[in-house]
Amino acid sequence: MITKEKMQFISNYVDSLFPDAKCELFYNKDYELAIAVMLSAQTTDKAVNATTYKLFADFDSLDKLENASVEEIEERIKSLGLYKNKAKNIKGIVHKIITDFNRELPSDKDLLQTLPGIGNKSAGVIRIEIFKIPDLPVDTHIIRITNRLGIANKNDEPIDIERKLKKLIPESNWIKTHHQLIHFGRYFCTAHSPKCSECKLRDICKY
Ligand code: SF4
Repeated sequence: MITKEKMQFISNYVDSLFPDAKCELFYNKDYELAIAVMLSAQTTDKAVNATTYKLFADFDSLDKLENASVEEIEERIKSLGLYKNKAKNIKGIVHKIITDFNRELPSDKDLLQTLPGIGNKSAGVIRIEIFKIPDLPVDTHIIRITNRLGIANKNDEPIDIERKLKKLIPESNWIKTHHQLIHFGRYFCTAHSPKCSECKLRDICKY
């Protein structure tokens, strides 16, 4: 386990590299973000945006999505893996928001997790993005980086890493650091060709 001082050093570095890091999923409406986050499971934000751009243009309201057939939704997201299941989840999310939540996305984490395809990480992302509620959801990039930097162990589940990071980082920085760590993983400390030769974390990195 690293110290708070080391974590601060890491946070400062990713802050210097990606000062304006933010969510890269495309959406116009709150419920569209919930759909985009669900679609992003096991794929990239870029791949999701390539499908939601058309999906949200063709069905630009909760009612239009509610009235769309599963096949019509499948047609627009079929470039994504697991698209048949994800199309069903879109229908489930929309139906639940209309019938159980009075057409409004809830901010409560447990309620968000009752939406099909939305787990702890996705609920955290929605809370950060829509409601600005401090959280530190852990995605595949953050898992990789925290393992390389010795913050996490290889047997840690995402929820374990989330708890560790929350202890090391002041709550007021959770949202910012969440975005910056993801950008660091997406564009710098990538899975297959991390830029180690120019990385200022080399001395503390275990990779
Ligand atoms: S030294 Fe390489 S593996 Fe370690 S954090 Fe930097 S880029 Fe990632």
